[in-house]
Formats: sequence, structure tokens, C-alpha cells
Amino acid sequence: MGHIIPLVEFSRKLVLLHHHECTVTIIIPSLGPPPEAQAQLLQTLPPAVSHVLLPPVDPTILAHVSTDAKLFLTVDRSIPHLRGAIAALAREFPLAALVADIFGTDAFDVAREFNLAAYFAVPSNALTLALCSYMPKLDAEVSGDYRQLAEPIRLPGCRFAFPVGDLHPSILDRKSDAYERILRHAKRQRLADGFIVNTFMEVEGEIIEALRGEEFANGRPIFPIGPIIQSTITDDGRRQNECLEWLDSQPPASVLFVSFGSGGTLSQEQLNELALGLEMSHQQFLWVVRSPNTTRDTNASYIGPQSNSNPFNYLPEGFLGRTKGRALLVPSWAPQIQVLGHRATGGFLNHCGWNSTLESILNGVPLISWPLHGDQKMVAVQLVEHLKIALRPIAGEDGLIRREEISKVVRGLMVGEEGLAVRNEMNVLKEAAKNAMSEEGSSTKSLELLVSQWKNRSGEPSLGT
Ligand code: UDP
Repeated sequence: MGHIIPLVEFSRKLVLLHHHECTVTIIIPSLGPPPEAQAQLLQTLPPAVSHVLLPPVDPTILAHVSTDAKLFLTVDRSIPHLRGAIAALAREFPLAALVADIFGTDAFDVAREFNLAAYFAVPSNALTLALCSYMPKLDAEVSGDYRQLAEPIRLPGCRFAFPVGDLHPSILDRKSDAYERILRHAKRQRLADGFIVNTFMEVEGEIIEALRGEEFANGRPIFPIGPIIQSTITDDGRRQNECLEWLDSQPPASVLFVSFGSGGTLSQEQLNELALGLEMSHQQFLWVVRSPNTTRDTNASYIGPQSNSNPFNYLPEGFLGRTKGRALLVPSWAPQIQVLGHRATGGFLNHCGWNSTLESILNGVPLISWPLHGDQKMVAVQLVEHLKIALRPIAGEDGLIRREEISKVVRGLMVGEEGLAVRNEMNVLKEAAKNAMSEEGSSTKSLELLVSQWKNRSGEPSLGT
């Protein structure tokens, strides 16, 4: 969902900017029928935006590999079907450009076959693009285990450095089954005609400027076009009513929203600590509860089957009774946009997913950073130390964040001095984000430039029809 939502919203914007004189087709590799929230989102597409679900890949090839490797394999195996889908589209329309998501750089070859411009869309932020640009250098210059590196990592345009341990786990471990694939895609990103990033100059301008000057971009344009956030409700309405009615009964800025994105999960032990920490904080909270993971793989439920068991069964004994009245718990999914936009929501404990971060910025809701996997630890450093819009609980040496620490940070954000400072910074960024998307704003200009480049190309015949 974290990849599809921004692509859907980007498509809506493109169609609007083209005054409905263009069409967009979103082509999605699949493992089977789409999950419920995805199916609902795809039903909201305007007439000029359509979608194609590619045939599911054979699940047997995905057995016994990591979640990261599953993602790569699914996209790799879908490339022949992508070729077929584009050939079918090219018979109907003059095509202008193909935009590939982070694991889809093989689609650039298909774009060339059909004489289409090939663009790379980063599902996260400019920091992730900076990491992609840096990875081939890291691989070439460092031999052996990255974990032995004494120096922190410095990425282009970043005033802040990262401990090596904050790297994406599949990058940190060169022997992981996804490392070579990530490296290959990082190298192939240079084949793009341009880069599209859901960010804005006021938040990541230094990184964008630095990348523009790097060999990585090599003169090709980088378009910061955000923040573009979800504009529809990915919920059947029932959950929405429940959440909003409960929030209506709470005082302004008094509720902490707790959610780990579209698939993040905690271990049973960590789930207990979080529950007890929230209880200890004596603050109101709205928590999207998901069943714990059994394999310490915090992102397995993004593409695996979501657990069908009732997540409330995994909560500490008596927790629901003790927090009654000051907590609302919803299983697995909440109407996040509506919750963040509600006046009663005063804080957001989140896994540093970039869409969630942008949604929080646009609503001026300060954050508690709880990174789980992928590039989220690096984003946490950016949010806490550089942008100062988040507080971060510290884990013990065993990796567990304990209830006392959780309670302290929650109270700090909701009623403490440190929370006030973070809230003020967030409000400044909220205004900057709104300006970026205004008629004369930096992101609007960037998007208009991208659209004009594609308009100029759309007269060229597509090949391979
Ligand atoms: N989301 C939602 N309800 C939920 C969980 C997630 O609407 O209960 C949406 C959220 O608003 C965001 C997206 O799913 O647009 C999650 O994207 P993000 O990049 O934050 O995290 P990811 O799921 O990719 O880890």
C-alpha cells in the first residue's frame, strides 16, 4: 500500500494537470487477489486512470526466501507480463512514458523497446534516493562486512551521519539473499531519464541539490513533487465511523494515534511492552493492533497472508478493561487520513513510513519514531535529529523497547516540554508543505515541468505495437 497509494495519487494529479486529456495505467505485479484495502483503493480510480493486475507469480519460487527477496522475485517474474500489458496499451494509445517503482528497474528495458521515456519513482524520500546513489560506491570501496565499519555513513547532501547499523538490514548483510538484487537495482537506477520523489524542497532540498550535482543523476532531472498524500478512504466506512465518533468525544490534541503502516508487526514480547507502556502513560490513544509476528520478520505481513486470528487475543490480560474509556483499539486497519486530520489527534506513534510521515506533516501532528525495517531507521534519524519533528524511544541492548521508556516518551510528546518544541517544528513544516503544493509552490512547478516534458514526447510513435 505504501507504494501503490502514492502512485495512485500521483496519477490523479497528472490527469488533473493534463485537464483529463491523458490517461494513466497502473500496472501491478501480484501474488494473488489484491488485499482488501488495495482492492478498495483501486475502485476509487477516476475514469482516466485504470489498472492492470499482472497474473500472479508461481508461489513455489517464493518459498524459503526473505520478504525483500520475495518482492524482487515477484517483480522479476512479472516482466514478461509487463511487456504484454504495454504492447496491448500501445495498440490503443500513443504512449509517452513509463514510470517504474523501486524494484522495477528492469522495466526500463521494456520502456526502451517501446520507445518510451523511462522514469524512476522513489516510493520513499530523497534520503532513500541518496542511499541508492551511494550503495554502488560503498560496495566498490569497502570489502568485507559493513558492520565492521568504524565511521558512520555520510550520504550526499545530508548534514547528519548514520551509524552503519541503521542501514537497511538487507544492505547491511552482504550475504543476505536480497543484497545483490538491491545493488543491481541501485546501479540500474542511473538508466532512468529522470527521478520522481514524493518530497519537497523545503524538507529535503539539500539532498536533492546534492544529488543533482552527483554523477548518479548525471544531468538528468530530479522532480520533487510532494507531499502527495492519500485522498480517498481505504475502508468500508464502518471503521471510519467508529474511529471518528470516538475521536469526536475526546478533547483537542489529546489522543495519540498508534499505527505501524500497512503491514508492520511487532514480536509478542514487544507488543506486551507497547500495550503496558501506553497504559502507564495515562494518555488517550487510538491503536491499530495487528497480531504479532512469529519470525521476528517485522515486514512479513506486507506481502504474506495477514494473520486471521483476532489481534486482541495477544494483548496483556486485563488490558482492554483497564484502558476502557481512554483507548480505542481497532484491528489491522484504520482510516488514517481521517484520524490524522481530526482535531482530537495530538500525536502519532509510527514506523517512519514515508507516506505516514507526509500525512502527519500536512496535518501538523508531531511524531514518535519507531522504525521497524527497511530504510526506516535512517528516516528516524532524519526526523528526530535533523527535522526535529519526532521523539524516539530508546531500545535496550536486546533490542526491546521497554514499557517505562514508552510511557516516558508518550508523556513527553503529549504533555511534556519536549513535545511542545516538536509540535512547533511540525507546524512550521506543515506551512512549508502547503506552500510547496500551492499554485506557485516548488512542487507544483516541478510537477508542471515533468508534465510538459511528457507532453512533448507524446507525439512520438511507440514502437513494438
Ligand atoms: N494506512 C491506512 N490505514 C492503516 C495503515 C496504513 O490508511 O491502518 C495508509 C497510510 O495512510 C499510508 C499507507 O497506508 O498512506 C502506509 O504507507 P507508509 O509509507 O506510511 O508505510 P508502509 O505501509 O509502506 O510501510
